[in-house]
Formats: sequence, C-alpha cells, structure tokens
Amino acid sequence: MLANREPTDPDDETKRYLVKCETCAFEHTVDGRDEATVIGSDHQTETRHDVVAVEVPPSLGRSSY
Ligand SMILES: [Zn+2]
Repeated sequence: MLANREPTDPDDETKRYLVKCETCAFEHTVDGRDEATVIGSDHQTETRHDVVAVEVPPSLGRSSY
C-alpha cells in the first residue's frame, strides 16, 4: 500500500484497539495504542492474565464488530 502518509498524520494517533483478555471476559475498546497498553498491562498486572490488543479497522465502526 503506497499511501502518502505524513509522520504527523493525526489518524495514526487515534487508531482504535480492542484490548481483550484470553483468560477471562475482560474486554475494552480504546483510542490510541498508548491507552491500549495502559489498559492491557493494568489488567495483566492485576490478574496475571494474558492480554492481547487487536487493532480495530476504523471502517468497521463499533456496531458492526
Ligand atoms: Zn483477565
């Protein structure tokens, strides 16, 4: 994909991530990778569960997933 992306592209900072736990029913959708890391490691530290963060394509929206 040869999109003409600039380093300062604001869209890059507002990607949505679905943070979910593989051990319990913990699931959280957040904006931005930093937030996903915070939420994920917070749950992981608290419960020692395995947490994964999946990038959510913006085109899907939140209702169709
Ligand atoms: Zn968990």
